Amino acid sequence: MTARKGGEGDVFARIGAFLSEQGLSPEPSHYSFAYSIVTEPDGVIAQAVRRLTDGGFRLQRGDIESLGGKVSLGASAAAEAVQTRQPDISHADALEENAARLVAETQAQVADFTTMMQAMQNETRGFGRDLAESAAAIAAPQVGHAVGLEAIARITGTMLARVRDAEARLASATREAEALRAKLDEANDTARRDALTGLPNRRAFEESFVTRPEHDGPYCLAVADIDRFKRINDIHGHPVGDRVLCAVGRLLVEECAGQLVVRHGGEEFAILLRGMTLAQAADHLDSVRAMMAAKRFRIRESDQPLGSVTMSIGVTAVQFGEDSATAFDRADRLLYTAKAEGRDRVCAA
Ligand code: GH3
Ligand code: MG
Ligand code: MG
Repeated sequence: MTARKGGEGDVFARIGAFLSEQGLSPEPSHYSFAYSIVTEPDGVIAQAVRRLTDGGFRLQRGDIESLGGKVSLGASAAAEAVQTRQPDISHADALEENAARLVAETQAQVADFTTMMQAMQNETRGFGRDLAESAAAIAAPQVGHAVGLEAIARITGTMLARVRDAEARLASATREAEALRAKLDEANDTARRDALTGLPNRRAFEESFVTRPEHDGPYCLAVADIDRFKRINDIHGHPVGDRVLCAVGRLLVEECAGQLVVRHGGEEFAILLRGMTLAQAADHLDSVRAMMAAKRFRIRESDQPLGSVTMSIGVTAVQFGEDSATAFDRADRLLYTAKAEGRDRVCAA
């Protein structure tokens, strides 16, 4: 048998431990990233990793990439790639990223909590064993080792103290679990909601699209974009533009009640309509479009007229089994046809 060179086995084990801690598969790029950290613990990369993982957080895909490692793309990364197509949403993206980070942090806390609960379970098992041994000693004292009252009082006292301690720890752990669950729910909701309009965001849209029950179909997908929105910002300022966005979002939600309306990015909304044929969806959306065009907006503070706000809409029937990107691209192309044909119209195909 040939012995390994000193320390090699240790390096191998530490690389394994690092990959497992960070939830990374043992493929070559991950392995070489881990190797550089394990073999150069004082190197720049290892120091950066320590800073990023301080507090028990796992490295994020972006962290590893920014440090020079390549991370294989999983489902969540693919969803992110879809999200990069929209410009002008850096603020919303930052909020989404924060929310996603909050989810990751809370998940780390939940993992700590699980570890604590396991430790308590082990302790309880040990306590049960002690209890059984003591009961046996009390019931059948060995010859010459009669259990005196003093010994029974000592055993009982110790056990009572341990029971009270366990009760207190369990109560505090339960409170912590409830707080964590609430925090996680809140973070999950924030990650799926647009901060300005309060509508669901693209992440929520992608999830709902994937999990839509086929038996609620047929489904249609519409993309609605406010016409000449830049002008509103340019003439009246960004805060007024923000309010217009909220008003348009509200109108879409009210007029498409029961359907999924999301702010897909910028001044663009996506609507997933269920239980409607393409002709029905197009008719309905055209009435919403007309309602929007008929509204006369005014600036609240000055009562200055803002005129009408119109939108163009592309709508398409979602085919059985197709992914959201394919359906969305088709609706997006129809939207641009509606723009090219003069705006304030619905284009369906
Ligand atoms: P079109 O009819 O071709 O859609 O013209 P448009 O002006 O609506 O489109 P364009 O893409 O040229 O401009 C979109 C504008 O939307 C530019 C961007 O600053 C603005 N916008 C995007 N997100 C927000 C937001 O959250 N708030 C405000 N106020 N403006 C936003
Ligand atoms: Mg627009
Ligand atoms: Mg647009």
